[in-house]
Amino acid sequence: MFEDETVDIACPKCGFQNSILVREIERHAETHIVCQGCKVGVKVEASEFQHRLNEINDEVEAMQVEARQKSPKPRKGDFQI
Ligand SMILES: [Zn+2]
Repeated sequence: MFEDETVDIACPKCGFQNSILVREIERHAETHIVCQGCKVGVKVEASEFQHRLNEINDEVEAMQVEARQKSPKPRKGDFQI
């Protein structure tokens, strides 16, 4: 689900990929994490990930549209002889 989507934040110091929940980024303009590789503090700006967040939103919308299209429609009586 959308809330569990994560993005990988590469540590500027050691390059370790830190996974952060998208909802954590969206909640604040800036998010501060501690790199799991070298324990340095890393600042994550939400604006840097706006493009990715938009992509995720688009994916969610596409899934919702698809789900709607798959739901069975009631048939009209067009095929009666
Ligand atoms: Zn690091």
